[in-house]
Amino acid sequence: MTEQSLPLWRRWLNAFINWFDTGPLVTAPEGTSLPDIPDRVEWARIIPFIAVHATCLSVIWVGWSPIAVIVAVVAYFVRMFAITGFYHRYFSHRSFKTSRVGQFVFGVLGASAVQRGPLWWAAHHRHHHAYSDKPEDSHSPVQHGFVRSHMGWFLTTRGFRPDLRRVRDLMQFPELRWLDRFDILIPVALAVFMFGLGIVLERLAPELGTSGGQMLVWGFFISTVACYHGTYTINSLSHVFGRQRYRTGDASRNNWLLALITLGEGWHNNHHHFPSSTRQGFYWWEIDITYYLLKVMSWLGIIWDLKPVPVAIRDHSPRRIR
Ligand SMILES: [Zn+2]
Ligand SMILES: [Zn+2]
Repeated sequence: MTEQSLPLWRRWLNAFINWFDTGPLVTAPEGTSLPDIPDRVEWARIIPFIAVHATCLSVIWVGWSPIAVIVAVVAYFVRMFAITGFYHRYFSHRSFKTSRVGQFVFGVLGASAVQRGPLWWAAHHRHHHAYSDKPEDSHSPVQHGFVRSHMGWFLTTRGFRPDLRRVRDLMQFPELRWLDRFDILIPVALAVFMFGLGIVLERLAPELGTSGGQMLVWGFFISTVACYHGTYTINSLSHVFGRQRYRTGDASRNNWLLALITLGEGWHNNHHHFPSSTRQGFYWWEIDITYYLLKVMSWLGIIWDLKPVPVAIRDHSPRRIR
């Protein structure tokens, strides 16, 4: 019996189980490829995603305070760095090396951004590079329009089924498979931490004017939604707005504004030209904060073997336009 032929109640039950345990029901069956899988929005499965957005509205009741806003901004940038530095430049492109413990910690930090586990993220991202802006590309704005490239693509059955054959190198680590299966644990822990932080601050420093509920809404929900849509701009806007330095055969663009809000990911045409480079801002004036932070981590010995972009590929490529 295929999943689509299950009775409605059973599909909703499966979706509910998948909120907490993505393991037994979500991998693409052997022998299928993404286009074989239905491309329909899974409404039951995405209730938590909608709820994360809706909960931001409760700011009407919890109010705001400078400390809550500061914590939200810090939580945004820390998790944006975890997505760009770890989910993207480490797990998806293996552009530097680290220890096995480091790898797991990077996975946990990435999962705190509530963009599912590292295997899911890397499998879909490698698929994007394999088919950039071709019909098979899950999130090409050229092929599928803004809304679907921004967020529609991962709300469908196909979006929930990563082609794990693309991440066989990562699948060999049981701890990463575990993290990917129960990826929701990390965001829940972060939400509980934010709530507890607000309660402690309310008790110890009432003059700050915060509370458990307020810190939860700002430090977790608002910050998560901002980090979501900041990340999504790379799939949507970075393939539409900006300049192309290289003829990469796709619509990827370099955009300084997107590079600032995503800590360097906006140098997306550079990235499609040479995806295995740790650095995406190819020149000193192309601000790439993720790269600077990774460089500091390499000085501290946490990561090593950062892959540079060879000068011949950067300056003398036949694909170079300007
Ligand atoms: Zn791209
Ligand atoms: Zn990439």
